[in-house]
Amino acid sequence: MPIRSEHTIAFSGLKDGRHDFHYAVGAPFFQDRSDEEVHDADLRVTVELDKSPSMLVTLIHVSGTVQVDCDHCNTPLDFPLEGDQRQIFRFTGQDPDSDDEEIVGLDPHAHEVDLGHYIYECVRLALPIRRVHAPGQCDPEVELSDEPASPNEDTDAPDPRWKALEALKDQRS
Ligand SMILES: [Zn+2]
Repeated sequence: MPIRSEHTIAFSGLKDGRHDFHYAVGAPFFQDRSDEEVHDADLRVTVELDKSPSMLVTLIHVSGTVQVDCDHCNTPLDFPLEGDQRQIFRFTGQDPDSDDEEIVGLDPHAHEVDLGHYIYECVRLALPIRRVHAPGQCDPEVELSDEPASPNEDTDAPDPRWKALEALKDQRS
């Protein structure tokens, strides 16, 4: 049996109108997506879904912290994060002609939708390109050196992306 994402919403059984979904997102969510920048996460996700006969309007809200490496001292940093994303699924069977990324076509016969990808997008868009500790919070030892840190760990580990790719294939077969 294919593994069903926990962020899949079986909307066919829902009445028209508003429904709320709550998720906790941690490190495995990012490991599954081969995201090597996010080492850990403690995020709360709320999805407000508004169902109508022709479309689903979803409002995704994420808040919490993600652990990334500080761009200045290269030590772990718990970065506070807050983000919103609106995603509209129309039962058209194809993507609309407009290049509005907010609107996605959904098979008219579909009965569920996996929001994992959109939740991930929402988190990544909320993460600025440069992430640094608050002033004075950087590792003082590392801060003295301008050399980029080059940890020797993990060099022998297999590329985790291959594993993720295999898992993805398994899910789809
Ligand atoms: Zn730092």
